[in-house]
Amino acid sequence: TPPERIRNFCIIAHIDHGKSTLADRMLQETGVVDQRHARAQYLDRMDIERERGITIKSQAVRMPWAVQGEAGDSTYILNMIDTPGHVDFTYEVSRSLAAGEGAVLLVDAAQGIEAQTLANLYLAMENDLTIIPVLNKIDLPAAQPEKYAEELAGLIGCDPAEVLQVSGKTGVGVPALLDTIVELVPQPVGDPDAPARAMIFDSVYDTYRGVVTYVRVVDGELSPRERITMMSTRATHELLEIGVISPEPVPSKGLGVGEVGYLITGVKDVRQSKVGDTVTGERNQAAQALGGYKEPRPMVFSGLYPIDGSDYPILRDALDRLKLNDAALVYEPETSAALGFGFRVGFLGMLHLEIVRERLEREFDLDLISTLPNVEYDVVLDDGSTFEVTNPSEFPSGRVASITEPIVRATILAPSEFIGAIMELCQNRRGTLRGMDYLSPERVEMRYTLPLAEIVFDFFDALKSRTRGYASLDYEPDGSQEADLVKVDILLQGDTVDAFSAIVHRDKAYAYGVQMATKLKELIPRQQFEVPVQAAIGSRVIARETIRAIRKDVLAKCYGGDISRKRKLLEKQKEGKKRMKMVGSVEVPQEAFIAALSQD
Ligand code: GDP
Ligand code: MG
Repeated sequence: TPPERIRNFCIIAHIDHGKSTLADRMLQETGVVDQRHARAQYLDRMDIERERGITIKSQAVRMPWAVQGEAGDSTYILNMIDTPGHVDFTYEVSRSLAAGEGAVLLVDAAQGIEAQTLANLYLAMENDLTIIPVLNKIDLPAAQPEKYAEELAGLIGCDPAEVLQVSGKTGVGVPALLDTIVELVPQPVGDPDAPARAMIFDSVYDTYRGVVTYVRVVDGELSPRERITMMSTRATHELLEIGVISPEPVPSKGLGVGEVGYLITGVKDVRQSKVGDTVTGERNQAAQALGGYKEPRPMVFSGLYPIDGSDYPILRDALDRLKLNDAALVYEPETSAALGFGFRVGFLGMLHLEIVRERLEREFDLDLISTLPNVEYDVVLDDGSTFEVTNPSEFPSGRVASITEPIVRATILAPSEFIGAIMELCQNRRGTLRGMDYLSPERVEMRYTLPLAEIVFDFFDALKSRTRGYASLDYEPDGSQEADLVKVDILLQGDTVDAFSAIVHRDKAYAYGVQMATKLKELIPRQQFEVPVQAAIGSRVIARETIRAIRKDVLAKCYGGDISRKRKLLEKQKEGKKRMKMVGSVEVPQEAFIAALSQD
């Protein structure tokens, strides 16, 4: 297809504003999926995605669309590039945006602009995309199209009359939207005679075919059977198959300038097909890769342990399997005195953590316990040595010169009556207000910088509860910053419980210490001796609770008489001990650790 007949676009929207529904409707309107075969949410592939209504992996679909012009009908090729919607996947979003020239900015006509709408809009603008403002769900009785058309027009600087109105559900306005995409989205530009350059915007592991890589060709052409080179690693592969998705994979004779499609090389690991990387021909190599490539970087870490220790090999194999389809997942074995054998796992963010954990439990039938999530800290000691700490219990000993933590830029949208509550929360979480704008008299956008560590710890829940669910949040990494942080240890009878060590701000050390000490005091049964539960910074104790002693002599009841009853009791006691963990000389039921680690 010549570039002048190609339009590449994506749909950006806040969660639940109807992106998947509209995408499915477009597939029907263009005849790619017929009414009879349309199944709900064609584009969302994974079960978890469908259940939670979120799109994790992006994908591209090719749709023909005939536009009536003066010289009769002309058929265009529309490539719809699906973007993941969540903050954890900002980099993947930015790569799928970079694969097109236009973006449909979709806003629920009963809800208005939300934080994700804005965050994605900013990304689209950074990529110089043409923005098409669209109100969705106009069939809803609660829709207020005039009001929100004005809000949307004010945001992007256009006339409210230019805001399209559609319903993905009924199909109203969708053909007009497709016409507008053809009219307004610029055609792709590239040099057909230059060495091939294609950008990878997604790669997905498929059990039968190996890795399927989604690309947008910028220059030149890729053809089946030729050898290609991945420019970041210089690895070469044979192109076994190349084609387009419409809506199932259709092999083609090649992809040229501006085209979007998939390629298969037989590799088995998505790490060999990295999002953002440039594909070129092996023989006729491009001199320079396309810009924008970044290695995925885990931001949040947590220890994952099987509740049943004998499941450890299953957990290891399960992580190996998930890794094939998740280039951002990193892990290494870790042992904990309290929890046994497990892994320290790195994630892009909290949703990524939840998804991985849920997949492990669901697809591999594992029961897991995870330690409190933490971020990565750069620690410099007085002697000049430096450490990257992803596990608080591995905090280096010695005098600390400085600790640096990751920072995020957060966008919060809420009704203006909640400004005070939001400010208080952000202040509590060590945030700095960077700016505030009114989208309308009743709705405000607040921009903050916040330590990522404060966000991973139940920030979203706190925000929701203070704003009766009305606030929305989005954030992206924004470098790092020094802070007055300390490591707090929790000790039982003088021995550190490794799974409970945490790195927290000095002002919050006491609160953390008291909270954990109180929890453990409640959860750990009395022992034969008194057990102090302490929180300490280094050797300095900052909080203390005591588990009082008990004489738990089960044999005392037997009056030395009935020998078989005695044996039974002893056996029972032994069984109870199996699930006990020893911390120093203290016996702790594993359930106590699990309960203490589960967030309430
Ligand atoms: P996404 O999270 O942006 O992909 O949103 P979905 O497409 O999953 O839609 C979220 C919810 O809104 C679903 O319950 C849809 O049925 C509903 N929905 C989507 N589009 C429309 C629409 O045009 N009209 C109405 N009434 N409901 C819609
Ligand atoms: Mg969706």
